[in-house]
Amino acid sequence: MKKKLQDMDIKDKTVLVRFDYNVPIRNGIILDDTKIKSSLETLNYLIDNNCKIIILSHFGKVKTETDIILNSLKPVYNALKKLVKTKITFIENPLDLELPAIVSEMQSPEILFLENTRHLDLKGKLESSNDAQVASFWASLADIFVFDAFASAHRAHASTVGITKYLPSCLGFSVQKEIAMLDTLIKDPAHPFTVIMGGAKVEDKLALIESLLPKCDYLLLAGGLANSFLKTLKFDIGASLATNSSKTMETLKQIMLNNKEKLMLPLDAVVGNTYDETYVKYRKINEIDINEVIYDIGVKTIEKYKLAIMSSNTVFLNGTMGLYEDYRFSNGTKEIFDLLTQTDTVVVGGGDSVSAVKKLGYENDFTYLSTGGGATLEYLSKGHLVAIDNIMEDDQIEILDV
Ligand code: ADP
Ligand code: MG
Repeated sequence: MKKKLQDMDIKDKTVLVRFDYNVPIRNGIILDDTKIKSSLETLNYLIDNNCKIIILSHFGKVKTETDIILNSLKPVYNALKKLVKTKITFIENPLDLELPAIVSEMQSPEILFLENTRHLDLKGKLESSNDAQVASFWASLADIFVFDAFASAHRAHASTVGITKYLPSCLGFSVQKEIAMLDTLIKDPAHPFTVIMGGAKVEDKLALIESLLPKCDYLLLAGGLANSFLKTLKFDIGASLATNSSKTMETLKQIMLNNKEKLMLPLDAVVGNTYDETYVKYRKINEIDINEVIYDIGVKTIEKYKLAIMSSNTVFLNGTMGLYEDYRFSNGTKEIFDLLTQTDTVVVGGGDSVSAVKKLGYENDFTYLSTGGGATLEYLSKGHLVAIDNIMEDDQIEILDV
């Protein structure tokens, strides 16, 4: 089955490619260009094969006229211009009716970069509701569709799923690499396999916890997740972030009963409090005061978690150990990252977790930083993603009549 870019006959063809260029931008400056860099392998392959290339991507959410101005891919276009070795042109309207004529005038290899596909969401949510006319218009411009936007693979939009109905479609190199890395965790991890989970909201992570528990040897918990388990165990956690749902707590209770040997919870914490910004104290986990807030794991917890980490061959980390954005509460996250530099295979997934790795200076120390955010977590918990399933399974292509 020709479902991978390297198996397709793309020489001299016109190729529509969907990347995820939803990068962090502040005041027009790109703060992290990982997603741009990870698109280059596919892009250069298309250039080397003398293709006409049309790039699609979304950027942020578009609900108002102001969002149209704020959420432009122009800064990404400017960055990309410096990274590719061929002519690249920006098209302000992703649905420009001149596009068929512009494409036929292109001299391959050449790139057209279309403005944010979600600009079409302003009137009628055309991109996000997977509008068939929009998808077939884009498809009519090209011979082949390449999906290489892993972080958007959990969304069935016109530019991710819609187009595949009308064009032979395949997966680009960065999507293939993401899937291969994540598969090493869910299909055949080298044991002992330790999962480290922290972060804020336990409800966001329950599906992931439940799917990884049968596969891992240890689950080390921190942050709002650990607080919710501690609260379920009737520990006083003061004013710390934790679930308030009795249904969630019942699920956590069952998880603890069924996984006593695997689960590890914090023994101590670094706390702040609700009325004094400057308050920072060390506390054993059973000595938290009513106004105190757990913001980081303490030294005894790090020592305990160290034993599991040092014995592991594979580690997956999602969620930070504490409020890493504040340097007073970033020690736990930093110490755990430091221990992980000794582990054979370390995969980090989740938007904040990858940001923390970069911010704390461990970018080059781990096996793989997954760029997927929500898509990564969904793939790990469910084992599939709509835009990828769609390409791997779909053999029905409608004949275009546009
Ligand atoms: P990811 O985006 O990688 O999935 P999360 O968003 O779940 O990760 O976790 C990171 C966020 O959790 C950070 O913003 C961090 O400040 C917050 N966090 C971690 N521990 C705590 C805590 N004890 N109290 C409040 N927030 C926390
Ligand atoms: Mg997050």
